[in-house]
Amino acid sequence: MMNDSSKGQAGNAGNAGQAGHVGQAGNAGQAGQAGNAGQAGRGGRFNIVLLGAPGAGKGTQAGLIAQRYGVPHISTGEIFRDAMKAGTPLGEAAKAYVESGGLVPDDITVGMVDERLKKGDAADGFVLDGFPRTLAQAEALDGRLAASGQKVAVALNIHVEDADIVRRLAGRRMCKACQKPYHVVYNPPGKDGACGACGGELIQRADDEESTVRERLAVYHSKTAPLIEYYRERGVFAEAMGHEILDETTQEVYDVLAKALGGVGEAGSCCGGGS
Ligand SMILES: [Zn+2]
Repeated sequence: MMNDSSKGQAGNAGNAGQAGHVGQAGNAGQAGQAGNAGQAGRGGRFNIVLLGAPGAGKGTQAGLIAQRYGVPHISTGEIFRDAMKAGTPLGEAAKAYVESGGLVPDDITVGMVDERLKKGDAADGFVLDGFPRTLAQAEALDGRLAASGQKVAVALNIHVEDADIVRRLAGRRMCKACQKPYHVVYNPPGKDGACGACGGELIQRADDEESTVRERLAVYHSKTAPLIEYYRERGVFAEAMGHEILDETTQEVYDVLAKALGGVGEAGSCCGGGS
């Protein structure tokens, strides 16, 4: 039952102090907390934040990155569902906003993310997907991480041109009967325009209508541009192109991350868009 600590975790502690930055931040301020055996390994060296417009394929890449680095993929949607289900005080507070149709305020969202990050599986890091969305959330996240001697290791933006996103999202269709997904260009239905599986009628989700997609993109850009600047100033911003072909995107994401996470000291020298 309580064999968490006997699983050879101690070996993890050995990697503090490897790279100047990480080591220095990793252990600060921990001395006072006696008795908490699991704490020693909390380096957070794979603290990854994913940025990218709706439709850029962020969720898919987040899952792949999480597997590759052995850290949890944490999406805001999942955090909300879990916190509400678990009935934590923050979850209850969020529920009240959600049920009344209001936006959950930043401090509650940040508190729930913080609760989630304290779970043991995020000791080496995390892939955050859908958070932070605003400058205030980014600052709050940094504050929470700093409290345990950590920081964001890399904020990776998956860049896709707006026109491409519109084309991808606006072409999506779904079978009204069996929910099978289609795309007018990439995965077209049969000749009669009906569902190939059940013959049902194909519909477009309101979220995918072109005007809605453009609105969502406008909101995204107005909130995210400052985030990109924020992380750039801190020397942790990196960017990969979201390609039409999934594997190409994944390969670029892996390359960019390897470079960003390997060369902690080289902040600011990459990804400016030059070469
Ligand atoms: Zn169908």
